[in-house]
Amino acid sequence: MIEPEQQRNFALDVVCQLRTAGFEAYWAGGCVRDELLGRKPKDYDVATNATPPEVRALFGHKRTLPLGAVFGVITVLGPRLAGMIEVATFRHDAEYSDGRHPDRVTFSSAREDAARRDFTINGMFFDPINGQVIDFVAGQEDLQRRLIRAIGSPRLRFGEDKLRMLRAVRFAAMFGFTIDAETAAAVREMAHEITVVSPERIAMEMRRVLTETGRVQGVRLLVELGLAAAVLPEIVTRDDTTQAQAEHALDVLGRLRDSNFSLALAALLAEQADAAMVRKVGLRWKLSNQETDEAAWLVAHRDALARTRFMRWSKLQPLLVHPWAESLVALHEASSPHGPDEAAYCREWLAQPREKLDPPPLLTGDDLRRHGLHPGPNFKKILQAVRDAQLDGEIQTQEESLRRVTEMI
Ligand code: ATP
Ligand code: MG
Repeated sequence: MIEPEQQRNFALDVVCQLRTAGFEAYWAGGCVRDELLGRKPKDYDVATNATPPEVRALFGHKRTLPLGAVFGVITVLGPRLAGMIEVATFRHDAEYSDGRHPDRVTFSSAREDAARRDFTINGMFFDPINGQVIDFVAGQEDLQRRLIRAIGSPRLRFGEDKLRMLRAVRFAAMFGFTIDAETAAAVREMAHEITVVSPERIAMEMRRVLTETGRVQGVRLLVELGLAAAVLPEIVTRDDTTQAQAEHALDVLGRLRDSNFSLALAALLAEQADAAMVRKVGLRWKLSNQETDEAAWLVAHRDALARTRFMRWSKLQPLLVHPWAESLVALHEASSPHGPDEAAYCREWLAQPREKLDPPPLLTGDDLRRHGLHPGPNFKKILQAVRDAQLDGEIQTQEESLRRVTEMI
């Protein structure tokens, strides 16, 4: 557990210690933007002219991790509730020959460090000791105008690292900002090149676009700017029918209350895709098996909760005891907001004690074997039929179940 107040104090403390030791040090990037917007930063990053060995010497080897030292980043561990702070040496990135990462980094000044960052609103420093913003890139002006604008030439900057195009969409959506015209034009032109970026990095941004506030806007931007055609062509529409489906999918996405990525992906794809297509997306983005399985299961069962009040319990119960039941209920609720309140009905069941929702079976495979039945194709069917009869209240005891078995054979 990280306590935001403690995290902030520790971030201040790290800057103070660096300054006392004679170095330049500021808060940098996303945390400055968030502080100026009055939002709680997820984490604080510190930028300094101290080199990685100097940072380690100052905070001690025990309290630092050199995981990103080649990029000039040292992680400084704080008190238990404060988490950790990444302390990065001012740097500029020399050449990006592959459109993904810099060939090498050179330590430099605060001004150059600002210039290598992606967007003006992400390119500011803040001196937490005297409360001063250090802004070489006119980030404050763009914050005021609510604009996402690349630092320097958008085409050059997207050419260096193509993931920045997706990041532009993510930040615009998250904050409800507009993408500056020249920056947006560059994304449109270069969107198809996004595929040189690793699936993992693409997935990381997509996870955030689809789960944070503004996700509907995020998806609209992906489509408009041509990024969807490259990373998620499944949602690009071809005619009026698919257009109407896509609009419905966006409504569903917008109504979701929780921020589960698989659920969001299922909501987005359920209208136009089947489980197999969801699996293709999972492979394309190298999602975890659990993420892909959950999204595919949700799409396969998207209509399963319609008319739940009329369903046999033996049909509904297996859905409600499923590990992803909550997501399925949420998807159903978001998909049919005006229908009868099946979600409420399902949630009443989900709130029941487990023994009631999922009573132990009256009959197991072992019981059947003891009664001389051999495992085979019928074996499973018989067990299932007995289980259904139990759930539907047709039989109450083991004796009755065995009688059922005899009848069936
Ligand atoms: P979040 O609140 O989502 O963490 P953030 O702005 O902190 O947003 P990070 O990915 O944590 O985003 O990156 C921290 C900072 O590093 C950014 O604000 C930006 O200045 C810089 N940065 C991150 N990724 C890139 C990139 N691909 N190209 C250029 N600068 C980047
Ligand atoms: Mg961050």
